[in-house]
Amino acid sequence: MEKLIITAALTGGIHGKEANAALPEQPDEIIRDALDCYNAGAALVHLHARDMEGKGVGDPVIFKTLNSGISSRCPVIIQNTTGGPGIPIEKRITSLDAGPESASLNMGSVVFFYRDREIPFYNLRSEIELFAREMLDRNIKPEMEVYNPSMFGEVQNLIDKGLLKKPFYINFVMGVGGMGGYPGTPENLVTMMNHLPQGSIFNVSGIGRCQLAMNTMAILTGGHARTGLEDNVFYHKGEPAAGNARLVERVARLARELGREVATPDEARVILGIKA
Ligand code: ZN
Repeated sequence: MEKLIITAALTGGIHGKEANAALPEQPDEIIRDALDCYNAGAALVHLHARDMEGKGVGDPVIFKTLNSGISSRCPVIIQNTTGGPGIPIEKRITSLDAGPESASLNMGSVVFFYRDREIPFYNLRSEIELFAREMLDRNIKPEMEVYNPSMFGEVQNLIDKGLLKKPFYINFVMGVGGMGGYPGTPENLVTMMNHLPQGSIFNVSGIGRCQLAMNTMAILTGGHARTGLEDNVFYHKGEPAAGNARLVERVARLARELGREVATPDEARVILGIKA
């Protein structure tokens, strides 16, 4: 099997320190966690920007601060989000202005549930195409976020329109607790794998309690693994994770125990078709 790319999703844009005080919100905290996660085995960090109050924002200045702060300290691949529920679409795209090597590309609409709130997250086909075209023009590798099997129709649409380069990099976002989420079970993960278009490689995120099982399944099935406090704030049931790096360390340790080597950032660039 190919070496394992570990992604650390450091902060996200929905829950903040109220969910886990170790979740980084401000640029200095996010930069520190990126370095810790790189040292723990992460080849790629997935980033969101937050304002001074910790609220998710689409702010190219903050993204530039994060990107330059991280790239001056370590060679980890930087992936800026183009998501962020509640952030206007024209702001979301500005994360590309910071010039990351990769960016997330959400492949459909979902509604997140968080603490009795319904948080709609719209991604129309026209918007997905616009994001994909910008990434293609700027040579930024898209990671397509697929939340359920129906979103593979949007992956196919981008392929048909020539908006993607191989290898197609698809992240299965399993276990979103809301409308459009797909439970993080072994059967569902295999179903997602069966929908992969030719020429794809896949990454697996598990939201909340299914994170560890989904990461482990990814190691065993030849996928790549995304962990981090954006997706899950616990280390064990009822025990908050002490930091992003603790989650990365565990995935790296599991991979080695299961006979799968962990990719360095440069090895991950080769796998993903990113020019260093
Ligand atoms: Zn994210």
